[in-house]
Amino acid sequence: METIVELCKRRGIIFQSSEIYGGLRGAWDFGPLGVALKENVRDAWKTAMFQLRDDVVPIEASILMHPKVWEASGHVGGFTDPLVDCRNCQSRYREDQLPTNKSGEIYCPNCGQAGTFTEAREFNLMFRTFVGPSEDTAAQVWMRPETAQGMFVDFAHVQLTSRKKVPFGIGQIGRSFRNEITPRNFIFRVREFEQMEMEFFCKPGTDEAWHDYWIRQRYDWYTALGMDPANLRIRPHAEDELSHYSKGTVDLEYRFPMGWGELEGIANRGDFDLTQHAEHSGKDLSYFDQAAGERYIPYVIEPAAGVDRTVLAFMVDAYAEEEAPAAKGGTETRTVLRFHPDLAPVKVAVLPLSKKDTLTPTARRVNDLLKPHFRGVDYDESGQIGRRYRRQDEVGTPFCVTVDFETVEDDDAVTVRDRDTMDQDRVPIENLVAYLDDRFAAARA
Ligand code: ATP
Repeated sequence: METIVELCKRRGIIFQSSEIYGGLRGAWDFGPLGVALKENVRDAWKTAMFQLRDDVVPIEASILMHPKVWEASGHVGGFTDPLVDCRNCQSRYREDQLPTNKSGEIYCPNCGQAGTFTEAREFNLMFRTFVGPSEDTAAQVWMRPETAQGMFVDFAHVQLTSRKKVPFGIGQIGRSFRNEITPRNFIFRVREFEQMEMEFFCKPGTDEAWHDYWIRQRYDWYTALGMDPANLRIRPHAEDELSHYSKGTVDLEYRFPMGWGELEGIANRGDFDLTQHAEHSGKDLSYFDQAAGERYIPYVIEPAAGVDRTVLAFMVDAYAEEEAPAAKGGTETRTVLRFHPDLAPVKVAVLPLSKKDTLTPTARRVNDLLKPHFRGVDYDESGQIGRRYRRQDEVGTPFCVTVDFETVEDDDAVTVRDRDTMDQDRVPIENLVAYLDDRFAAARA
């Protein structure tokens, strides 16, 4: 993990928030390459969820919602973690995340003492703030701790106006906030993060089949984007682990450097949410199924993923160090992020062989040619060509396009270098866009 954190910092992908003031725990900023990577993860999710389907529609709900939403959802009463302090060294922990020693007692990872913890206090993870000028309880609202509730409270409106029939889904990507007791493991557990959630409304009785369906869909999404199946597993929740709303949950877990960790939860929420909101709001949230001629409260299957955790998982999965031929003979260690081309923050780098004036106009022409076709074209003319290749490998650029003297004097063609095989193809500039399109399509096939 330290290697990834260091690489992210050095290349300005992800770094501490408010760094010049010493940082803020559990808060991270995404730099230019990080923004592109995150955007690509969101895009891939939106493509799979919305663009390629007819039965899921997007919304963008407000982060601040009516406070009753969080009473109905159970978050005001129950969204808590058990907080304990070590009496010996004053470190603070989530009790259920403490390690146990050989005699089965939890101990403090900081000072090593067992049996020195305070009684656990239930600590609500929701951040609160106030709307308007007076800071009293009537003005109190919560920063949403999940995006899901937006889909439930908007269910009737969206169903009616989009004219979707059950089964169908509503999804959104957006910020969520949780006052985590111990944010840690880089962007794995933070206090402000982004979720990609979808609520799939279906007829009671069909829910288990839809649950299985969505587990498979979501698993395949990660592997289609290049994730190694050896690092991805499906873990059903044990009975005593289930949330209050859940009829059954499985986690998709990734093998992070610190161990297996949840990447996405896929829950069968039954009719809990719509029933709760119908009761608390007094609005009818049932659905009339014309085909079956019956009215019911739909059941809900929810795949809920985190953008930040997904970014981290893909980065860990793509990271490789390998021996490669060095420019001066022999070999050297090459760091390469083997991102799926759809995820790579830079798609193509345009590299004039040297900074000579004779090459610049052609290199610029190639750059201008590619920009409208690919989001993420990087123009780099500084330093030795070998070093520039390594810089691109390190951030996972699938293709480097080199403009050399032959290009200008002879063939109007460029050299395209493949990140993984380091093979080079000579491609006429007039065919370059089509050539790259084919290579990207091949990676998706
Ligand atoms: P955990 O048990 O790790 O706290 P959770 O089960 O509470 O997670 P969910 O409520 O199921 O998480 O949220 C869905 C997804 O949102 C998670 O799978 C994860 O990817 C992401 N997520 C949740 N909390 C955080 C956080 N503090 N930081 C980053 N991502 C998070």
